Amino acid sequence: MPVETLTKARWVYAFGGGGADGDASMKNLLGGKGANLAEMSALGLPVPPGFTITTEACVHYYANGKQYPTELAEQVAAGLAKVEELTGKTFGDVANPLLVSVRSGARASMPGMMDTVLNLGLNDETVEGLAKLSGDRRFAYDSYRRFIQMYSNVVLNLEHHMFEEILDDHKDRLDVHVDTGLTADDWAEVIKDYKAAVSDYLGKPFPQDAQEQLWGAVGAVFASWMNDRAKFYRRMHDIPESWGTAVNIQSMVFGNMGDTSATGVAFTRNPSNGDNRLYGEFLINAQGEDVVAGIRTPQSLTKVAREEMGDVAPSMEEAMAEVFGQFKSVVETLERHYRDMQDIEFTVEQGKLYMLQTRSGKRTAKAALKIAVDMAAEGVISKEEAVGRVEPASLDQLLHPTIDPTAHRDVVAKGLPASPGAATGKIVFDSDAAEKAAANGESVILVREETSPEDIHGMHAARGIITARGGMTSHAAVVARGMGRACVSGAGDVAIFEKEGLFRVRGREFKAGEIITIDGSTGDILAGAPKMIEPELTGDFATLMSWADQVRRLKVRANAETPLDAKTARQFGAEGIGLCRTEHMFFDDTRIAAVREMILADDEKGRRTALAKIAPFQKADFVELFTIMEGLPVTIRLLDPPLHEFLPHTEEDVQAVAQATGLDAAKLLRRAKELHETNPMLGHRGCRLGVSYPEIYEMQVRAILEAACEIAKSGKAAPVPEIMHPLVAKGEEMKYLRDLTDRVAKAVLEEQGGDLKYTVGTMIELPRAALRAADLAANAEFFSFGTNDLTQTTFGISRDDAGKFLGAYIDKGIFEKDPFVSLDQDGVGDLIRLAAERGRAARPDVKLGICGEHGGDPASISFCEKVGLDYVSCSPYRVPIARLAAAQAALAAKG
Ligand code: ADP
Ligand code: MG
Ligand code: MG
Repeated sequence: MPVETLTKARWVYAFGGGGADGDASMKNLLGGKGANLAEMSALGLPVPPGFTITTEACVHYYANGKQYPTELAEQVAAGLAKVEELTGKTFGDVANPLLVSVRSGARASMPGMMDTVLNLGLNDETVEGLAKLSGDRRFAYDSYRRFIQMYSNVVLNLEHHMFEEILDDHKDRLDVHVDTGLTADDWAEVIKDYKAAVSDYLGKPFPQDAQEQLWGAVGAVFASWMNDRAKFYRRMHDIPESWGTAVNIQSMVFGNMGDTSATGVAFTRNPSNGDNRLYGEFLINAQGEDVVAGIRTPQSLTKVAREEMGDVAPSMEEAMAEVFGQFKSVVETLERHYRDMQDIEFTVEQGKLYMLQTRSGKRTAKAALKIAVDMAAEGVISKEEAVGRVEPASLDQLLHPTIDPTAHRDVVAKGLPASPGAATGKIVFDSDAAEKAAANGESVILVREETSPEDIHGMHAARGIITARGGMTSHAAVVARGMGRACVSGAGDVAIFEKEGLFRVRGREFKAGEIITIDGSTGDILAGAPKMIEPELTGDFATLMSWADQVRRLKVRANAETPLDAKTARQFGAEGIGLCRTEHMFFDDTRIAAVREMILADDEKGRRTALAKIAPFQKADFVELFTIMEGLPVTIRLLDPPLHEFLPHTEEDVQAVAQATGLDAAKLLRRAKELHETNPMLGHRGCRLGVSYPEIYEMQVRAILEAACEIAKSGKAAPVPEIMHPLVAKGEEMKYLRDLTDRVAKAVLEEQGGDLKYTVGTMIELPRAALRAADLAANAEFFSFGTNDLTQTTFGISRDDAGKFLGAYIDKGIFEKDPFVSLDQDGVGDLIRLAAERGRAARPDVKLGICGEHGGDPASISFCEKVGLDYVSCSPYRVPIARLAAAQAALAAKG
C-alpha cells in the first residue's frame, strides 16, 4: 500500500513571513533552492513568501504515468492562500494581482538545465491592475511581455527568436535601440504581436487564466527533469534520475520598477582567487536573467571593484548606499550561518532588499584552498573541515605550470588533453635529440607520431610531448602522466616530416628548433611562448597539506625511478618510493647495448658477461636513489617486461643498432623473431624471467644491496630496500625467488661485513596470487597491489586495447567508470580485500600497499583506507592529491 494512503502525504512546504516549514537540511525533499529559501526565511531574512512542491511529488508524477498526487491541488491552493495572506494580494485578481515565479530546483544544482518563469499571473486584465497598483504602466507592460516570452518558451516550447524578431521589428519601426527606450504603449503593441504569433503558431490563444498558467508551469518544470539537457548533465555529474526536481512557487518582487530597483548576483568571496571580498554584479531597473543575459553591461557591487575595473557606471555601494549596507550585513550573516562561501541572488524593489537564492558557491582550486585556509584561520571552520573543503583531484590544476589566462593564445592545432600542465620549448623530433638538447640546458617539446618504450629517455628529457596518433591511454599519455610531463596526444592535424625536420599543420609549418607551447590541460598546441604561471607549493597549499597530513592514516609514496622523479616526489611530500621500475633504467643509451648483448647471449655465461657490464650502472642508480630518499623505504621491482621490448623491431632499426653496437644484425633480427609472443602481456615476463634467467635477478639484487651498504657505510641514513618480485602466481614461485634473494643478500652482506635490513615481497597482479595470498605471504613480507595488471588480468581486458570498446560500455552504463582510472571496487576490490585478509592471516604484519594509476585516484584511495592498506603509491605529481584524499578518507572513516 502506498505510503500516502496511510498518513496524509505532504507535498508542499511553505516559506516566508519570517518562518518556514522546511530548513537547509531538507535538500533531498525540497531541492537545494527550496531548502535554502526556507532556511533564509527562518533566519528572518527578507525572502518573498512562497512554497515548495517536493521532489517526491516529481518522483510520484513519473512513477504514476505523469499524474500529480491527488492531494497536490488542494495543498498548492493552501500554499497560495498563505502567500496571498502574507502579501495582501490575490492570485488572478484583476485589481490587486499576486504574481509569482515558478522555479525548478533539484538536490544538486544543475545550472541552466531547467528554466524559470517569472511574472506568472499576468494577463490582459491583471496587467492593468498591476499598472494602477504600481503607478507605472510601462513597468507593468514590460513585465507582461517578459512573461509571455518566457512562458511561451519554457512551457509552450516556442522558440525565443520568434519573439526577438517581433521586438526588433518594433524597435526598427520606433527607431530605438535599447529595451528601456520603449514606452508602455510601445510594449502594448509588442504584446499584441506576441500574442498573435502564439495563437498563430499553436492554434489557440496565449493562456489568460492564472491557474492554467500555474499548472502549465509546474508541469513544464517536471517535464524539464527529463529533457535532453538535464539527462546529459546528470550523466556527466553522476546525478541519479530517481532524485526528481522540486518546484518553487514564489511571490514576485520587481527589480524593474525604476531607478531605485535593481537585481544582482553576488559571491561572498572571490570565486576565482578566494579573496575575502564581496564579488558580483548588479543592474538597475532590471529583472532576473538580465544580469547574465549580456544585453546590458552589469555594474560592480562595491566601489573598490568598480575602481579596479575602471568602470564609470556607479557601483551598488555608491548608487544605493543604504540598501547596500543592509545587503552587506545579510551577506555576512549568510556566510557565517552556512560557514562557507555563498553564491547569492537578490533583488531590490523600490529601495527594499529581497533575497532570492543562496548556495555554497562553485570555485576554482586556488580559491577553494584560500577560502578553506582563511576560514579555518578566522575560526569559522575547523582545520579538519578545511581539509574536507578542497576537492583532491582539483589540486592537479595547481601542481603544474599553466598558461597565464590573460596571455594571447595562438592555437595552431588541438589534440587530446593527455597530461596536464603547460610547457614551452624547442621542437625536436627524436628522443636522442631531446636528450642532447636537455643536457645542454635547453627546454624541448618532443614531437612524435607516437611513442614507444624506447622514447622514455626523450620523454623524460622533454618538457612536453606531442603525438599525432594515440588516445588518452596511449603509451605517450600514460607515461607522460606518470612522469608529470605535459602531453597532447592524438593531434591528428599535425603531419610530421621527421626526415625534413618539420611538421605541417593547418597550412602552417614548424621547423625543428622553433619554439612552441603545449597546454596539456586543454589539448591546445600554441605557437611561441605565452606567459606562464608557475605552481605555488608554499602558502595556502602547504598549510592545507600539513593539516591533511595530521589526519591521514595511509602513508603516501611515489612511483619513481629517476633522480628527478624521486626529488619531485619528495618535494610533493612522498614518504618513500612504492614502485621503482628497474627496466626504465635499462633503456638508457649507455646501457641498452649491454642489455641487448645479454639478450642475444647463447648461454648463461654469455649473459653473465653482459650483466656484469650493466651491474655498475644499476648500482650507481640505486646509490643515487637511496641518497635522495634519505632513509625512506624504497620498493624496487626487479625486471618485469618481456625481453623483446629491448630489441629493435624493424629491419631499419636493426641495421642501425647493429652498426652502432657491433652486434650481428642477422642475429638481432633472428632473436627478435624468436622472442616474439602472441600475447606478451601473458607471456615470458615478470618473475618468469627471474626463474628462467636467475642471473638477471641476482645481478639486480646484488646491485641493490651493494648500493645500500655503500650508503650505510658512508654514514648517511641507511635505506630500507624492499625487493619486489613481479607477477608471482604461486607459493612455490615466491619461495624460489625468496631463496634466490636471500642467498645473494647473504653473500653481499658477508662481503661487505654489514648488517643491513631489507625485505622481500611481491606484487599482487594476478587473481591467483590474490586467492593464494597465504601461500605467498609465507615468503613475502609485503604485498604491493599492482592494480593496473590486476585489473587487466581480472577483467581479461588489455589496457592498451580497451580504448576501442570501453566507451560503448560506459555509454551503455555497463561500466560506470573506466576501471583503469578508478578501481573496480566490487571485482578487483574483492580480490584485494581477500588477499589482504588471507595474507594477514598467514603473516599478521605483512605490509600492504597499492601502486599503479589507482594509487592517485581519490575514490580508489578511499577504498584503500577501508581495506586498511598501509600505503598508496602514485606518480610524483599526484602525491599531494593522494595525501589530501587519504586525509579525507580517514575523516570519513572517523564518521
Ligand atoms: P536559476 O536556477 O537558473 O538561477 P532561478 O529560479 O534562480 O533560476 O531564477 C532565475 C532568475 O529569476 C534569477 O535571477 C532570480 O533572481 C530571478 N527570480 C526568481 N524568482 C524571483 C522572484 N520571485 N522575484 C524576482 N526575481 C525572481
Ligand atoms: Mg538562480
Ligand atoms: Mg605489472
